Amino acid sequence: MNITHAWAAQDAKSKLAPFDYRPRELREHDVQIEVLFCGVCHSDIHQARDEWKNTIFPVVPGHEIVGRVTAVGGHSHKYNVGDLVGVGCMVDSCRTCSSCEEGLEQYCENGFVGTYNGEDRQTGDITYGGYSTQVVVHEDFVLRVPENLDPAGAAPLLCAGITTFSPLNHWGAGPGKKVGIVGLGGLGHMGVKIAHAMGAHVVLFTTSESKVADGKRLGADEVVISKDPEQMAQHANSFDLIINTVAAQHDLNPFIALLRRDGNMTLVGAPEHDHPSPQVFNLILKRRSIAGSLIGGIAETQEMLDFCGKHNIVSDIEMIKMNQINEAYERILKSDVKYRFVIDIDTLRNEATA
Ligand code: NAP
Ligand code: ZN
Ligand code: ZN
Repeated sequence: MNITHAWAAQDAKSKLAPFDYRPRELREHDVQIEVLFCGVCHSDIHQARDEWKNTIFPVVPGHEIVGRVTAVGGHSHKYNVGDLVGVGCMVDSCRTCSSCEEGLEQYCENGFVGTYNGEDRQTGDITYGGYSTQVVVHEDFVLRVPENLDPAGAAPLLCAGITTFSPLNHWGAGPGKKVGIVGLGGLGHMGVKIAHAMGAHVVLFTTSESKVADGKRLGADEVVISKDPEQMAQHANSFDLIINTVAAQHDLNPFIALLRRDGNMTLVGAPEHDHPSPQVFNLILKRRSIAGSLIGGIAETQEMLDFCGKHNIVSDIEMIKMNQINEAYERILKSDVKYRFVIDIDTLRNEATA
């Protein structure tokens, strides 16, 4: 198998830098994919900097992958060479536990295999992600990307898209429902677009005054500056659902107070440090609930891609070259990206072979 050119972090303190490796030989059900574009998720930063305390170095991040099939294993029949495909956060799971049987591989009772920082179930080798010229993945964890979508803009659907689609779907966002999205970053802007396409009344909560007009352009019916208690108070007791995408520790109480009776706030943001525990009476008195949600299963990810194909939804992206990744990380930390960086992997291929 050809050498794969990639970028990796060698430890929690070092910047990402070029790193070559040899991918596994194609197994019977494998698909080999030439990576064209890879989105840059805030999770890549958490992981590269070991903020979740589980990173195995060197780590090659990247789990918003879009590419073309270049080869398939002997018994791999789902995809053909040339197909436009995607890979998200998972590349395998046990397939036999109750969660896997329900198509909820992300909650695999035996632990799913992450696209990066995961452990191959057969060899124990550490998986490497999409900041790479190619990836090799079992066909069951490869998604079909609608050909009508711009492939670069579609890449962030593989994590940011499904992570917001899944809880919106689960909690019944749709016509007649008032849905809040907290944080206008990579996940948040997908949440606004998807909730709007589902027909919900969408309210964006942002800390950034500069994002108000964009919020409306992206599909929010209303935009609230979450730091302004007066603006917040106008929405008290009114939300059916709030999806909280914030990547940093913060006080949840002001958002819980906006939920109606039986309303739910689902946390998808995964900060380094936990949020302070919310006030109990804020929940009890209106039977409000707080939930969490992790990406989405493979079938639901395909459903989301097809939904986005039908509604022509892609991410708003800023395309970068591979060698701009460290600068991009710093800008994400300042909430300075509109609204997802996507790496043009040709810049990695060309540089590596120059
Ligand atoms: P992102 O692009 O950095 O967006 C996060 C947004 O949160 C920012 O744009 C900002 O929005 C807001 N924010 C940041 N710091 C804040 C603070 N101190 N107080 C209040 N608001 C703040 O990140 P992302 O890629 O969307 O990821 C968001 C989080 O979700 C990360 O923690 C990531 O690891 C996690 N994640 C979870 C899953 C899952 O399966 N649950 C999947 C993917 C990612 P405003 O400027 O609008 O305020
Ligand atoms: Zn992600
Ligand atoms: Zn399982």
